[in-house]
Amino acid sequence: MQVIQVAGLAHSGTTVTDRILSCFPGVVGLGEVGQLWIKAENGTFDNSRCPCGETAPGCPYWGRILSRRHPTQEQFFRAVVESAAHGGQKTLVDTSKAMAGVSHYARLRDRGEVDRVVMLRLVRDPRGWVHSMMRRNEIAADDTTAIRGLFYRWLLGAIRLDRRAHRPDVEKIYLWYDKLVLERQEAQLGKQLGLPEVEGEFSLLNANQHAIAGNKFVFSERRATLSYDGRWLSNRHIEDVYATLPTVRHYYHEVQKLHLLTTGQLRQLPGTEMVRGHLKNVENPAHHAEIEAAIARIAVVADTAGDAPVAAQAA
Ligand SMILES: [Zn+2]
Repeated sequence: MQVIQVAGLAHSGTTVTDRILSCFPGVVGLGEVGQLWIKAENGTFDNSRCPCGETAPGCPYWGRILSRRHPTQEQFFRAVVESAAHGGQKTLVDTSKAMAGVSHYARLRDRGEVDRVVMLRLVRDPRGWVHSMMRRNEIAADDTTAIRGLFYRWLLGAIRLDRRAHRPDVEKIYLWYDKLVLERQEAQLGKQLGLPEVEGEFSLLNANQHAIAGNKFVFSERRATLSYDGRWLSNRHIEDVYATLPTVRHYYHEVQKLHLLTTGQLRQLPGTEMVRGHLKNVENPAHHAEIEAAIARIAVVADTAGDAPVAAQAA
């Protein structure tokens, strides 16, 4: 059994990525697995529908997991792995934001019960992310103060995520979400993860997805292919504010480069050494205090710029 832990900020394409991966043969997408243990233990599992059409107890994956008690989190995650294997799957995808399962999956791997644990660090263009958040929070298109606050929120979130995802014991793959969708790199991603090739046309309608917690993948119309949401391009204020935020741009570019490096699309270009240096900074806990201090300085600037409500939300 291979476990893929998707690591990305909310509204960064984690649900869509789960959907894409679940279309490969032998893969089951189980959504935000970590959220379900407490619910399962308290017996407060709601009867919300699984994308397979069943309620949680009737789902071939979750029904089996919920039919027994799992007093510890570790037992719960083991049951999740067993259920996926029992369903004949070779790979399970977990999109939990808190990544509660990673330690357990890694331990199961060390005991030989799981073959491989991969963390898929997903990054989406912060401009697209800011636009999504603006629509969600009904922020006016020209509210540059709010836009700036959202960019800081993205940066803080990305840094926190990278700290949480810092696991030298787990293999990490960087995925640049915009590039995946724009260039339709599904096949390349599958190859990188060692997934069997999809026979015939790749269709999102073939997903084996059982995500009970987390966002449900909803198509406004049933579509088999992805399309890129480029609506942020029509708001020039987003671009204008982005141009004034070198730290945000730098962080995004570095993760982009890490994606290109880990996929072999970037080799000897100038700046590669700098990228490796930055990776060490993000991954070396000794540097985290420094990064935090830098972020604190940014937060202070944000506060004086009138971004306090957004900063508070992010905390
Ligand atoms: Zn199901």
